[in-house]
Amino acid sequence: MTAESAADCGFSFTPGTFLPNGLGRTGVIHTPHGDIRTPAFIAVGTKATVKAVLPESVAGLGAQAVLANAYHLFLQPGSDIVDAAGGLGAFMNWPGPTFTDSGGFQVMSLGVGFKKVLAMDATGLVDDDVIADGKNRLAHVDDDGVTFTSHLNGDRHRFTPEVSMRIQHELGADIMFAFDECTTLMNTRGYQERSLERTQAWAVRCLAEHDRLTGERAGKPYQALFAVVQGAQYEDLRQQAARELAGLEVDGRRFDGFGIGGALEKEKLGTIVGWVCSELPADKPRHLLGISEPDDFFAAIEAGADTFDCVMPSRVARNAAIYTGEGRYNVNTAANRRDFRPLEDGCDCYTCAHYTRAYLHHLFKAKEMLAATLATIHNERFTVRLVDDIRASIEAGRFAAFKAEFLGRFYSGRR
Ligand SMILES: [Zn+2]
Repeated sequence: MTAESAADCGFSFTPGTFLPNGLGRTGVIHTPHGDIRTPAFIAVGTKATVKAVLPESVAGLGAQAVLANAYHLFLQPGSDIVDAAGGLGAFMNWPGPTFTDSGGFQVMSLGVGFKKVLAMDATGLVDDDVIADGKNRLAHVDDDGVTFTSHLNGDRHRFTPEVSMRIQHELGADIMFAFDECTTLMNTRGYQERSLERTQAWAVRCLAEHDRLTGERAGKPYQALFAVVQGAQYEDLRQQAARELAGLEVDGRRFDGFGIGGALEKEKLGTIVGWVCSELPADKPRHLLGISEPDDFFAAIEAGADTFDCVMPSRVARNAAIYTGEGRYNVNTAANRRDFRPLEDGCDCYTCAHYTRAYLHHLFKAKEMLAATLATIHNERFTVRLVDDIRASIEAGRFAAFKAEFLGRFYSGRR
């Protein structure tokens, strides 16, 4: 089939104001389920729920889009059920834009056997065998795909680029990601090179299968496919991967946008995102997969990322950690027992408008479920507002000043 142009299918990106470095920018991603003003924080709803909060609350606190995970939804409830429900948004009562990630990260994490190494935790070790030898190893990668064991019930499954595309088409998110191999910082340069070749070959297969499925499922809202740029901490590999994926065309179809994935040392995050974004076309959106702290947001956005997902605000909220403009504190501590102020003075969230630190302290101590709900609403609102403020600072030409001011306060250690 002939691929329709991006604008015809309801998906496109309009860049707005650029930073002086020519990389960081504002913009609007247009999707069949609404626009996303960028830069934007994408709330994480791994299993088709942002844990502990109603989708109505997620919308109410200003989140523009939700990202769910193909691996988890494939295992439970099954992507066919989400498809029968009318897709991810209809299934979870989220009318706005949705993303799914390919499942690659989760599956490869099973292969590593100890998940943290795959994230930003650099250990300084470089040894492919350390990874290959893990006794908890639940996944095996070959050139065609990955065979893995379900973390839920031990069943054996196989993901290939084609399987990931089928699952993601059934899930029906507005933005999907190509199936890629995630390496770790412990892999050798030689392994990273071979892995990158594999990821690039899988990108071709994903694009072909995406084209086929788009034709087969004509009449459904268009789903955009983002490539994933790997290459670990190597400038030449990252740039080569970005260039190849940006130029790739299969059956007249190109990638609609780009994800930046893989092992990133926190200190190099901005540098690596910059290497990649400088090779990517300016008229397509870029998503940084999985980052954690507010300083990462500034680094990523400055280097050219338009959207990013971040599980940290909701994850730490469930452990009583509260974000404020002056850093993070734990509402569990005794100091909050009789503190009848909101979680953060001046915060415009629902929780801060109606509840106190003393009440949250009580809920956490009593192990009441409402604790997680109220804390998550605050932390998610804090994050959405921060990224909104960053966007406004770019539009106003005062990004650098805002960055210095915010990070100075957040990391001042006053708490
Ligand atoms: Zn609040």
